[in-house]
Amino acid sequence: MADQTPVSAASLGLDLAYAPAPEATDHVRIREHYGLLIGGKWVEPASGKGFKTVNPATEVVLAEVAEAGEEDVDLAVKAARAAYDKVWSKTSGAQRAKYLFRIARILQERAREFAVLETIDGGKPIKESRDVDLPLAAAHFFYYAGWADKLDYAFPGRQPQPLGVAAQVIPWNFPLLMAAWKLAPALAAGNTVVLKPAETTPLTALLLGEVLEQAELPPGVVNILTGAGATGAALVAHPDVDKVAFTGSTEVGKAIQRTLAGSGKRLTLELGGKAANIVFDDAPIDQAVEGIVNGIYFNQGHVCCAGSRLLVQESIAEPLIAKLKRRMATLRVGDPLDKNTDVGAINSRQQLARIEELVASGEAEGAELYQPPCDLPARGFWFRPTVFTGVAQSYRIAQEEIFGPVLSVLTFRTPAEAVEKANNTPYGLSAGVWTDKGSRILDLANRLRAGVIWANTFNRFDPTSPFGGYKESGFGREGGLHGLTAYVDLS
Ligand code: NAD
Repeated sequence: MADQTPVSAASLGLDLAYAPAPEATDHVRIREHYGLLIGGKWVEPASGKGFKTVNPATEVVLAEVAEAGEEDVDLAVKAARAAYDKVWSKTSGAQRAKYLFRIARILQERAREFAVLETIDGGKPIKESRDVDLPLAAAHFFYYAGWADKLDYAFPGRQPQPLGVAAQVIPWNFPLLMAAWKLAPALAAGNTVVLKPAETTPLTALLLGEVLEQAELPPGVVNILTGAGATGAALVAHPDVDKVAFTGSTEVGKAIQRTLAGSGKRLTLELGGKAANIVFDDAPIDQAVEGIVNGIYFNQGHVCCAGSRLLVQESIAEPLIAKLKRRMATLRVGDPLDKNTDVGAINSRQQLARIEELVASGEAEGAELYQPPCDLPARGFWFRPTVFTGVAQSYRIAQEEIFGPVLSVLTFRTPAEAVEKANNTPYGLSAGVWTDKGSRILDLANRLRAGVIWANTFNRFDPTSPFGGYKESGFGREGGLHGLTAYVDLS
């Protein structure tokens, strides 16, 4: 029998250490200053205010961005109303589809520019913005372009009508992709929009504004207002808005719901999550480990549907956690523009502080922390991939959304216990099930209270598939035919 002793690279004199592989940035032009897109024109804010957006990996200021005040919100809503009344509500579905197809194609053509800008402004690894955010954003526009002239088939006998002006407020974790999720169905269904990107990641939404101009979308059909919470609050409260679509924290979602109560405005909320990723003893362990890593360390864990609670069957807990730790030690943390990087920068100083506070609570409450050894850059906002074992259900790290690269491990013995623990959360956005048995997957899918359930995979997205939550994860669905429902009035 052949000698099976592994030969190390070092013993052969080979140096297999990674060499840096930075993505080029010379094709991305960041302006010093950005205005607001209102009525098809880039304008200075009436508020006279602005704020800075920084690269979270270097803390270098990238640009000064306008901060829209109440007067700007009013101008943008008026522009959206005028575009709705005069142009968009009279534009046929086939014509609307042409604009959406055009936007999708331009996004594909300019994908590299967008991916690099997304990474510079938000901190996510270039391989993710390049291979996930951009292709999915374009796919959303393609998908809803296909529906624009088929609404009567989507809702047979229901005479679907657009709602009017939609106010859309989005978060910083998937800035361009969330803009695409919001804009594509709204425009396909014949609504006009005022979009507010998050304050830490405005740049790709502003570049998308340029793409809309390039696609010759009629002025005012999409208006883009940059700003922080106050801008968002003014926008959703504006009396001439017909529909509000919000993605962000549960806390702000609840505040918006209170503002809108009794107003007759339509509302969809995509909020936080604390997903259970459940691994049974018959699961393919190596694939499960990959799924766990993807579930929580993808996008630094800044993912509302992240698999942040690992529920592992007790009999395999020890070997699985040992494999997981070995795998975590191979994750490359650092420069998000490096094509080898797996875990990039934390989006902001504020988010880093929130993660650190919750991790400290986990240690104080008695959980055992593991972080693989890795060097972190001297500047910027960073957090090592982290796993907590010995976690009780009552610990804050098992209950609260950390929105960072931090996994809490709990164990179970029976499927019933797994379901009970998985559902023991105020959230209900997503879940994962890893098992060899199809019947068990179907059984759990029926009993888990979560909007999206992945089986033997995690964090898979597709524009044809509805996404959304139960309980404090919000209501309404984005994606698929369901995503159109939020933007039409049905008789
Ligand atoms: P956040 O709620 O503070 O901010 C989200 C957006 O809302 C930003 O654009 C912000 O400027 C705006 N905003 C803040 N206060 C507002 C107010 N009072 N009225 C109107 N708009 C306001 O959330 P965040 O910390 O920026 O984002 C992280 C959160 O978003 C996490 O909790 C995460 O789970 C959630 N999220 C959910 C989904 C989903 O699809 N369910 C997707 C991504 C993020």
